[in-house]
Amino acid sequence: MNHTGFNDIVGHERQKQIISAFFERERIPHAFLFSGQEGIGKKKMAIAVALKILCETEIGCGVCRQCKRVSRMTHPDVIMLDRHYMEWAIQAQQKKAQNESTEKTKEINTISIDFIRGSEDKKIRGINQEVHRYPYEGKKRIIIIDNADNMTTEATNAFLKTLEEPPEFNLFFLITSRESDLPVTIRSRCTRVIFSPLSQGQLKQYFIDRLGIDEDKAGLLSYISNGSINTGLFWLEGDNLNIRKRLGEFILRRTKSFVYATLLGEYISKGARELSIYTSFLFSLFRDLYLVKKIKTREGVVNQDFLELLERSSYNIEGIDKAIQKIKETAGIMRYNINKWLMFENLILQLTR
Ligand SMILES: [Zn+2]
Repeated sequence: MNHTGFNDIVGHERQKQIISAFFERERIPHAFLFSGQEGIGKKKMAIAVALKILCETEIGCGVCRQCKRVSRMTHPDVIMLDRHYMEWAIQAQQKKAQNESTEKTKEINTISIDFIRGSEDKKIRGINQEVHRYPYEGKKRIIIIDNADNMTTEATNAFLKTLEEPPEFNLFFLITSRESDLPVTIRSRCTRVIFSPLSQGQLKQYFIDRLGIDEDKAGLLSYISNGSINTGLFWLEGDNLNIRKRLGEFILRRTKSFVYATLLGEYISKGARELSIYTSFLFSLFRDLYLVKKIKTREGVVNQDFLELLERSSYNIEGIDKAIQKIKETAGIMRYNINKWLMFENLILQLTR
């Protein structure tokens, strides 16, 4: 991904203004909390601010040596604590411990204390250790913690001490789509910036202008992307649009096929991102059914391409309520459930019953 500062970020004009105002007044807080739905550009905004701070021309030009290294995540003064980094760090740690070298890294759902305090084997340097060193090259060190709400209680407590009295040359960005899961003690020490989903118009324009997608497809994507460019890009990846279509038809026609449910479950449970987006899709599908069957309107229907099937579908209001309940239950346990394949397969079977 190529980052070139604020101009590259679609929408979020008010948020850009708020952040810029801090810089203009040269009163930069020591910690920002970027809160809002997943996949709408919060992390990208944090990186854009990092570019602004570390850029040789102070605008986030995107072409100078500093900017390039920030973009490639190789700048020594930028610490990005996200899932990608944690998986990499834990894999490196396991490689050293020979016996475990064959075991595949488990999916990382929490930010453990090791990433805050440093690991005992010294393979992972913790944020609390880093913040006391002067930045290597820039005026400030930028620390971005993605999904900050995933910190364990132990990690939160250790991090809180740093957040209370951070050495002045650090700037923190805490990013969350589940702000209420973050302790108030953390939240109250950050300057909060709320991000809203992008509008359908903004999304459509993005898909047409930047990705060269035709008008019809861009239109559909703007509906089904939930205000998020990332979700739109997800649908464009691999077979996803096709699987969405098949899953939607399977559910709306209430097809009875165990084998097919298993296959869909397998495909969808292969990653956290897949699970989360397909679960949202199922939500939206039943919400659409509710609109069409109960309110008897086409207005506000998200899955425009399923309109006919939605209207012909045999679900009654009670069935729709039950289905929504089932999806909610599954979404609630998803983070903790080990066998995601079985879980999703079960969900599909229950929904078509
Ligand atoms: Zn630059």
